[in-house]
Amino acid sequence: MGSAMKVTVKNTMWEHRSCYFFQVHEFNEYEGDEVKVKWVTANQLALSTGNPEFSFRVIERKNIVKIDDMLFSFDSGKPKIKIVKGSKGDEYVVTLGATLNCTCPGFQFKKSCKHTLETA
Ligand SMILES: [Zn+2]
Repeated sequence: MGSAMKVTVKNTMWEHRSCYFFQVHEFNEYEGDEVKVKWVTANQLALSTGNPEFSFRVIERKNIVKIDDMLFSFDSGKPKIKIVKGSKGDEYVVTLGATLNCTCPGFQFKKSCKHTLETA
């Protein structure tokens, strides 16, 4: 088990909230562990739900506003580049933009790593 994270996601129904009969919240909050799913792209996040019939949900990273109460900006227009120090003192270049990238070996392999989340 990894450490559970709390993800705040913009509700895409919010803009059209007058069309719904039920109350639409501006943001949804999900808690879970990041799950590795083959078909989930670097621009998406798979988060465990704890429900055996629906074990994870896929979240579009561009809709994420906060992770663990830290502001998350995923501006698809302008990529942000940051240098992150790895646990062994190595430096990795994290690119946040329309596509997510990190130069660490883990990202090359899994298309996801903790650096990209830390930088966001
Ligand atoms: Zn990395």
